[in-house]
Amino acid sequence: MFETSIAGSLPKPGWLAETNKLWPQWQAEGDALLQAKADATLLWIKAQEDAGLDIVCDGEQSRQHFVHGFLEQVEGIDFDNKVTMGIRNNRYDAMVPQVVAPLRLKGRVHAFEAQLARAHTKKRLKFTLPGPMTIVDTVADNFYGDKVKMALAFAELLNQEALALQADGVDIIQFDEPAFNVYMKEAADWGVQALERAVQGLTCTTAVHICYGYGIKANTDWKSTLGHEWRQYEEVFPALARSSIDQVSLECINSHVPPELMKLLVNKDVLVGVIDVATDVVETPEQVADTIATALQFVPQERLFPCTNCGMAPMGRNVAWQKLRALAEGTKLAKERLGQR
Ligand code: ZN
Repeated sequence: MFETSIAGSLPKPGWLAETNKLWPQWQAEGDALLQAKADATLLWIKAQEDAGLDIVCDGEQSRQHFVHGFLEQVEGIDFDNKVTMGIRNNRYDAMVPQVVAPLRLKGRVHAFEAQLARAHTKKRLKFTLPGPMTIVDTVADNFYGDKVKMALAFAELLNQEALALQADGVDIIQFDEPAFNVYMKEAADWGVQALERAVQGLTCTTAVHICYGYGIKANTDWKSTLGHEWRQYEEVFPALARSSIDQVSLECINSHVPPELMKLLVNKDVLVGVIDVATDVVETPEQVADTIATALQFVPQERLFPCTNCGMAPMGRNVAWQKLRALAEGTKLAKERLGQR
């Protein structure tokens, strides 16, 4: 009951990459960089285990950014000529690579870190990939001329990598789709369909993470314009409830998401955000347990998985560590309150 995990990313140590940045520069290259990525991955697996989490992940230590890390292994993308593009409906500008030719995988994308993580933990292993719709929103199109077509092309590549990750021994494959909260109608119209293409043939657990973004200023500013009830999930949850995706990871604590929207996720596992990534204030076990109690009004206890609101990539390392502890401690308290351990 109440198995804990994080949304996906963790801060990179200062010897691996620049800290507190969304697109950090690596601190080494070649073999030294590969070794540093491996060291950081193992360090965070140990930290998640020590904190007491039930499901662990690689903390995305081997990718510069959650979307571009995947794109680096895709043929047909020009990384040498990046352009500035407003992303997430122009919420902020990013330097993005351009799609210039038919898309094809150059080879495996995440074999190194997935196999490394698998070899060093006996816990269940979750691995994250960007979702097709969010990729389409984080790359410039100079070839397809059609968002849906390009999303399905990416979905096919994601599916190839996901099947390979499953063969590596990954237990849960999660697709990150923050764009679902920005383009709600398109998400319901074709975003979920593209996701279905990405999970085709998978027998491991599948998940989608939909959030209000990292705790960077552009996101907190955006959130302050969303009013006092955030109902974005209302449009896409029914489509997800009808889909084959097993789990949905969502933002809860300190958000203005009406918790009753979780009821729309009929028969899905719900990864409830009980840790806020937009503040360095560490949650108390009581706050975490209270958030779990709120979610329990709308999600059956066997389907409730305490999680973080989003990734912790741009946070301080020590804060992230304390938040891992808070997640485990608060979940333990929630179990005690229910008379179970
Ligand atoms: Zn997120």
